[in-house]
Amino acid sequence: MNLHVIGTGSKGNAYIIQNDDEALLIECGVKFSESLKALNFNTRKVAGMLISHSHLDHCKHVKDVIKAGIDVFCLKETSDTFGISNHRINHVLPGKTFMVGSFKVAAFDLKHDVPCLGFIVEHSSTGRFCFITDSYYCEYKLPAMNNMIVEANYCDTILKARLDAGEEPSFLRDRVIRSHMSLQTCKQLLQANDLKNVFNIVLIHLSDRNSHALRFQKEIKDLTAKKVTVAENGTVIAFGKTPF
Ligand SMILES: [Zn+2]
Ligand SMILES: [Zn+2]
Repeated sequence: MNLHVIGTGSKGNAYIIQNDDEALLIECGVKFSESLKALNFNTRKVAGMLISHSHLDHCKHVKDVIKAGIDVFCLKETSDTFGISNHRINHVLPGKTFMVGSFKVAAFDLKHDVPCLGFIVEHSSTGRFCFITDSYYCEYKLPAMNNMIVEANYCDTILKARLDAGEEPSFLRDRVIRSHMSLQTCKQLLQANDLKNVFNIVLIHLSDRNSHALRFQKEIKDLTAKKVTVAENGTVIAFGKTPF
């Protein structure tokens, strides 16, 4: 399988895990036509879409997804916020496991400023992977992963320097640290988990102002000795169980 990053960050998120026969979509904060292009307009192979939470950079285009006949899996709070009830909407409870086509998905609570889900997904081609974004912390120890998609939104020292220079108002700083994952917390999360079988670490949702992609990539690579990719709009990477 491949991971396609259609969009990442506060301007809009959309991710596709796909091969020729199957696809799992995560988030629809980018115009759905962009995802359709990456799918070669083949919506028949789409098993469904996972949505983490109700912020527009993650779910703005959900009506178009439903119109395309795609099942959506999200919290009730999320669909209540976007005001849609439709037979395509499937409500997910944290701690529960469910099937989306042949993708086995477990949802768990994250720590954001609105209810937000992380996902652990298992599929015979990708192995087990996690999707964790918009969370200032992850309190769970994850089962052994083959691939990881994790937020690294900002760096403590960059944020502090910008605050000291008067470039970042303190209320924005306060919001960021209570809703997004720092590079430092991302490192702790990785260190707290068994990375032995991890093939890819993909860093997502970097802040435009308070991050540094190359440095984040290097620091996580130095820490983990794994293949680390900083997701950008348009990134496509092999997303299998092994490098071979
Ligand atoms: Zn976001
Ligand atoms: Zn958010």
